[in-house]
Amino acid sequence: MTELLHMKDNYIREFEAKVVAVGDCYVVLSHTAFYPEGGGQSGDRGTISDGTTTLTIVNTKKDSGTVQHLVSGPIALSVGTDAHCSLDWNWRYESMRFHTAQHVLSRYLQLNYGVITVGNMIKPGESRADYSPLESFDEEMKRKVEVGVNEILAKNLDVSIEFMPRKDAIDYLNKKGYQTRYLEMVPKSVKEFRVITIGDYDAASCAGTHVKNTQEVGAIKIGKTKNVGAGKRRIYFSLVN
Ligand SMILES: [Zn+2]
Repeated sequence: MTELLHMKDNYIREFEAKVVAVGDCYVVLSHTAFYPEGGGQSGDRGTISDGTTTLTIVNTKKDSGTVQHLVSGPIALSVGTDAHCSLDWNWRYESMRFHTAQHVLSRYLQLNYGVITVGNMIKPGESRADYSPLESFDEEMKRKVEVGVNEILAKNLDVSIEFMPRKDAIDYLNKKGYQTRYLEMVPKSVKEFRVITIGDYDAASCAGTHVKNTQEVGAIKIGKTKNVGAGKRRIYFSLVN
């Protein structure tokens, strides 16, 4: 199992770790702050160096309990090496801003249009989420949602990370009227959930990375939307700056 430093602290940009395994195109570390692709959020990028050789990490993925840091080119580091690891912070920080924005957008649409989030894809540049049931979404609705979401973000709400026993997390979210359908689908072997709370506006179980306050997100702009079948609508959005 690779210890995931980012579960508790989303702001670790650099850390020291030992190389514990080397594969064809990846490196496994004793612990990591690189976010492995999952839960709709893209994997982290960055570098791993022993001071002489620097590997470029192009993506990070989970393989059972370990995290694979995918390397472009030959892997010139061996098992047992003490390495200095740096995240591509621009990439990661934008992912964090997008992810917190998506939670607020999802909650806004749930509260105002009674729709639930059925999928997402968080990545720098442009992110997207799928909502159901949401057949139509015209320009007027788009602008209304944009203004509404940006008003929430402008309230400078603190974002907190908490770990709760499975049952407590589900009860807590249920009581507050937040979405729990995904939680019921998580294997029973998972005994603890990580709950992300955004001020008094939203709470959700999520393993992703988030900013500390909604002021770091700034504002969003809603782009194109499209019907993806079965009453689902995909909404694309970007960050204003
Ligand atoms: Zn999330």
